[in-house]
Amino acid sequence: MIKEVILCVIAMNRQFDDLLEKVKAQDPSTDEDLVWKAYDFCMKAHGSQLRASGDPYFTHPLAVAQILTDLRMDHQSVITGFLHDTVEDTLVSIEEIKERFGENIANLVDGVTKLSQLELQSEHTKQAENFRKLVLAMSTDIRVLIIKLADRLHNMRTLHYITSEEKKRRISRETMDIYAPLAERMGMHQLKDELEDIAFSYLNLEAKESLQSRLNFLYENADYTVEAIIEDMVLALKEHGIEAPVNGRQKTPYSIWRKMQHKRIAFEQLSDIMAFRITVDTIPECYQALGALHNKYLVLPGRFKDYISTPKPNGYQSLHTVLIGPFNSRIEVQIRTKKMHIIAEYGIAAHWQYKQNFSHDGKQYAWLRGLLDILEQTSNPEEFMEHTRLEMFQDQVFCFTPKGELISLPSGATSIDFAYAVHSQVGDHATAVKINGRLMPLRTVLNNGDQVEIITSKTQTPSPTWERFIVTGKARSRIRKFVRIQQRGQFSSLGKSMIHKAFQQEHVEITEKSLDRVARHFKYTNLEDLYAAVGEGIHTPREIVSIAYPDEKAGQKLSLEEELTKKKTPSINKDKDSAISIKGLISGMAVHFAGCCHPLPGDSIVGIVKTGKGVAIHTSDCDIVKSFTEVDRLLDLSWGENLTPDDKFVGRLKATFINKQGALSAFSTAISKQNGNIVNLKITNRTLNFWDIIIDIDVRNVEHLNVIIARLRTLPITNFIERF
Ligand code: MN
Repeated sequence: MIKEVILCVIAMNRQFDDLLEKVKAQDPSTDEDLVWKAYDFCMKAHGSQLRASGDPYFTHPLAVAQILTDLRMDHQSVITGFLHDTVEDTLVSIEEIKERFGENIANLVDGVTKLSQLELQSEHTKQAENFRKLVLAMSTDIRVLIIKLADRLHNMRTLHYITSEEKKRRISRETMDIYAPLAERMGMHQLKDELEDIAFSYLNLEAKESLQSRLNFLYENADYTVEAIIEDMVLALKEHGIEAPVNGRQKTPYSIWRKMQHKRIAFEQLSDIMAFRITVDTIPECYQALGALHNKYLVLPGRFKDYISTPKPNGYQSLHTVLIGPFNSRIEVQIRTKKMHIIAEYGIAAHWQYKQNFSHDGKQYAWLRGLLDILEQTSNPEEFMEHTRLEMFQDQVFCFTPKGELISLPSGATSIDFAYAVHSQVGDHATAVKINGRLMPLRTVLNNGDQVEIITSKTQTPSPTWERFIVTGKARSRIRKFVRIQQRGQFSSLGKSMIHKAFQQEHVEITEKSLDRVARHFKYTNLEDLYAAVGEGIHTPREIVSIAYPDEKAGQKLSLEEELTKKKTPSINKDKDSAISIKGLISGMAVHFAGCCHPLPGDSIVGIVKTGKGVAIHTSDCDIVKSFTEVDRLLDLSWGENLTPDDKFVGRLKATFINKQGALSAFSTAISKQNGNIVNLKITNRTLNFWDIIIDIDVRNVEHLNVIIARLRTLPITNFIERF
């Protein structure tokens, strides 16, 4: 065993020496020592770990680095090839990588590690499109994706060592659905073809074998050989003065399989089973070669395609034609330049190489721009979305349900958005969330690849406070709808009890008939609406009494007068006019009380002059005043002496009380017993146990409000109350 390992290491060292020479030749900026350090580091980190094949684990990173070298990638990518599994599979931390190999390489390793962690979660093929986007979104540096593809290619090449059939199929499915299409979109055809062919043999071995044997039969029984056809074509080209190599190859079983599925034709009809490629030096030679072939052989109509004048979105260029070749064989021919050929085989990796050569101005991502330019030519909007800008997905986040389904959300989305995206019922009853197995607050912002498990409870209901940390329209509309219904219920029961109280206080009988009259007066279709309106502070209870019994001397004179002033200014909590006695004002100035601090007689007050809007009155300790810097627009004010007990001002309280039957009405009773009049009430937060409310009360002055606060503090249901 030890001997085997030593032999293996010797072979590896030899392979490494060759690899290093190649990388140095391809990337002049190669830091030779660093490449060697990476190789050494990965051998030590993986130590005695073994692959499923029984080989030492470090054969895998070496193979991946080799694939990247063959793709002619830069030395940083090759180094990442060596290191790509150290963070995932050994005790090495990303910080250590950063320390030893620098930030760029650490970022690459981190990116590949994150993609590897994703793999573990994906099972659902119908999610493939989203998953591909996720992979793209996470590959902020396209090299991460290329390294990931190299890793996957080696894993596919060694997949036969895995014993679990189920695992082999899962990995193959993922390769087929996620990685092969990504490779194709990046123009890496060679890599794509190999990934597909291996995956195909695990996913549909029967189809593959029957295609292969059919292909073999055709080749063996053809009355011509590939060599004979090549010979004939070379001659045809020579007649037109073109000396160019012609390559012939059998098509792969999977490419035929795909064509069969795509075009719905049987194998018998698929006669062009051989593909030939002519590689020339210049673009004019491409067309000359085409002319030579079309001159000598019959052309199959409708099969000629000019991808030179109109390249494919991923940058692919070639001329395609189908001919009835020598010996009546149907053959597919591709004609391209050498440069086009490299791009056709290596795609993005080739672009990297080309761009790299003339962008040594420190802009290491210039090549990516170039790539994006190419990708931008995509016509299909869906593809466009996916290709145009990798950073386009930076405004989306993709998260998993516990079952592995992918949910796509706008970035900044929280667990609540996620819950509503899964199902509105899940959102409505969300009580807690586990993100990647850890219990987290519901307001937690989600990250790409998070696995999110929403914990629900039948008794939980949406909270208005959720609105503060959601970003999706779906969540918002559901929460609002629920809160509206809830609040209406609250307002209506509050309004009802307020009305009943008022009638009792005025010693008038409360009948349905009398209330119906009031409802009609205000054009409400039912009593509930009237109650809700009173609860919400649109009408005062006394107003209701006076309309129900217009002839009765309901209420005190003063309050009736009050009603009259209120009718003039229906919004009660603002626009008290300047008839209110305040010293320090210039006469004729429009005055209103600021909604932020609700000043009351007894408070020390300050006015802020607003152009065109008159004077806003604030308490002098209001935050707005404190941060207001234009001293010449501040007015020093004080309350006048001729205030009467009938002058009412809005005081605002913030309270938390225990969520209990009758709590709201105990609250409102206590307030009205202290001659306070609730004009507005807003529930700001509801949990299982507590309600937070903001409540506006008509009071005479600060003392009056303080008495009410004191009274409310004595209630057993009150948890917290403060002027707000
Ligand atoms: Mn790996």
